[in-house]
Amino acid sequence: MAIERTFSIIKPDAVAANHIGGITAKLEAAGLRVIASKMVRLTEAQAQAFYAVHAARPFYAGLVKFMTEGPVVVQVLEGEGAVLKNREVMGATNPEKAAEGTIRKTYATDIERNAVHGSDAPETAKEEIAFFFSTADLASLAR
Ligand code: ATP
Ligand code: MG
Repeated sequence: MAIERTFSIIKPDAVAANHIGGITAKLEAAGLRVIASKMVRLTEAQAQAFYAVHAARPFYAGLVKFMTEGPVVVQVLEGEGAVLKNREVMGATNPEKAAEGTIRKTYATDIERNAVHGSDAPETAKEEIAFFFSTADLASLAR
């Protein structure tokens, strides 16, 4: 499998609970490398746009409120098959269904307050990275 990039958000619940380090350690232990990272506070418009695919869902308004309640850490992760690997380390959306040792099993509260976001496909990863990081940002951080 090729070296790939994916996009991750450490959500407001996990930042507030002081789990940035614990979550990042699990990503790194899985072979993912943080190649860009910053803490931001999403505006309502940004959260709405980022999760626009869920606009018709009953949980959309609550999700936008949650994602704007405090700062988040947005990261670009790189590694072999990074998109799938990140989804595996994250665990299921509902932490009750997440496997032992996954980020959501360890750190999530419920199906909404579930600690992390991760891109679900290479194409969405590309769009989500571009939502938060410019080509110039990424180039300046290259090793
Ligand atoms: P994410 O896109 O954040 O990585 P995911 O791909 O596992 O999560 P999605 O179905 O894309 O899950 O849902 C996006 C987010 O919306 C979830 O991570 C969660 O915060 C919230 N969410 C999903 N389903 C529900 C629900 N039934 N009730 C409340 N919130 C939900
Ligand atoms: Mg999703």
